[in-house]
Parts: sequence; C-alpha cells; structure tokens
Amino acid sequence: MIEFKNVNKHYGAFHVLKNITLTIRAGEVVVIIGPSGSGKSTLLRTINGLEPITSGELIVDGIPVHQKGTDLNKLRRNIGMVFQHFNLYPHMTVLENIILAPTKVLKMPRAEAEKIARFYLEKVGLLDKIHAYPAQLSGGQQQRVAIARGLAMRPKIMLFDEPTSALDPEMIGEVLAVMKMLAEEGMTMVIVTHEMGFAREVADRIVFMDQGEILEDAPPEEFFTRPKEERARAFLKRIL
Ligand code: ADP
Ligand code: MG
Repeated sequence: MIEFKNVNKHYGAFHVLKNITLTIRAGEVVVIIGPSGSGKSTLLRTINGLEPITSGELIVDGIPVHQKGTDLNKLRRNIGMVFQHFNLYPHMTVLENIILAPTKVLKMPRAEAEKIARFYLEKVGLLDKIHAYPAQLSGGQQQRVAIARGLAMRPKIMLFDEPTSALDPEMIGEVLAVMKMLAEEGMTMVIVTHEMGFAREVADRIVFMDQGEILEDAPPEEFFTRPKEERARAFLKRIL
C-alpha cells in the first residue's frame, strides 16, 4: 500500500529524512515513534504528498507520489489524516463538518453523505452529537468527530499524527479505542504516537526514528523487549 525506496527530504540545507526505505502492506498498522524533531510528522506528510520529497521513490496505493505530474488530489481522496488539533470548522455542526468533503470533493448527493455521516458517527459513539457545534464537545469527542470525518471519505489509508497529544488524560482512552476498532477492522494505518501501551497492543510493527533515520522496524514485542539500537533503548528509558 505504501512503499518508500531510498527517500530523502531536505528543508533547504537541513536533511530531515535520510534514506528512508519502508514498506507498509494493506491492513497493516504501523506506529512511528521517536524523539521530537526526528522527522515523524514529515514522514507522515510525505505519504499524501503534503511534503514533497527530494529524492527516491514513494508509491502509495499504486500512485507514484514522487513523480512530477502525479494527480495528488486523487491520492488524497483515498487517505484520511487526523492531527493533534482536531481542525473541525467551528462554524459548522458535526454533520456539516463530516459531509463537507464527501459532497464537495466526491460530489456525493447530500442524502447519501448524511447516511454515511450517521454511520460513522454511530461507530465513534457520537450519533447524539450530530447537530452540535465543535465548541459544545469535549476534546476527545472532537477528535472522534475528526476521525469520523476522515472515514466518511472511505479512505484506504488513515494517517494519525499524535492524535491524543492535545487531549486531557481522561479523554485519551476513548480516542485510542476508536483507533483500535479501526485497526481490528483491517484499516491500513500509520500512527505517530507517544502512547506506548497502545502501540504495543495494536501495532503490527513499530518504526523507531531518530534524526531523520529509521533505526528499527520490528514487531512490538521484539521492539519493546529487545530494542537493538542504543538510541532506541535510551528513548524507551526516557518515556516508559
Ligand atoms: P517530529 O514530528 O518527529 O517531531 P518533524 O517532522 O516535525 O519531527 O520535524 C523534523 C525536523 O524538521 C525538525 O528539526 C523541524 O524543526 C524541521 N522542520 C519541520 N518542518 C519544517 C519546515 N517546514 N521547514 C524547515 N524545517 C522544518
Ligand atoms: Mg511531529
């Protein structure tokens, strides 16, 4: 589903992604961890072409993202992204937030988009908030709406960039539970998170990044019990 081959990216003179080679198969859940500034968000954002790469090859769902002239809009329709900050439109209700892209981008009839919105709101446990405005919801509820909004586009891949980092501790669990459900349903997911319990339980693989490099790529059991790299061991020691 996602294939990085010797991918490099620079911000000016700064080498932010160093020779990244990584394959993610359909249905896999890959959790990316690493210190702040190691390039995790940048890596995630290259997947839907939000950040152009400098060299190498990047194929996502059969689409050569690295090639000039590739229609990135087509790619982005198939990729949902959830950020740390929920990015819901404050002047729109939950329903309007969710049906916006399906009706505008996919040109879906409103009735159909509403049906899909209801389906995913029910899934994230918020059908009763369908006519609420974002400000009337807790942070955890807003983030679950943001996930429902992503799912309403029927994406093949969901990207999550620290989706619980801005939440009060008591709301983290409800968002992780929705993500776990998606994982169990076979969604292809790439997740940046500091929630190590979740990573250990839900991930098929842990990718550890430091200073723009992938230093480890291993199943959680292996990574958490026998990290090979000294920098991974030091990182785990700091956060666990
Ligand atoms: P992480 O998500 O692991 O914290 P990022 O991918 O956000 O790391 O950033 C990696 C490095 O790239 C950081 O040193 C950051 O300052 C730098 N960086 C991120 N975005 C930009 C940008 N648009 N221009 C220049 N440098 C950037
Ligand atoms: Mg980041």
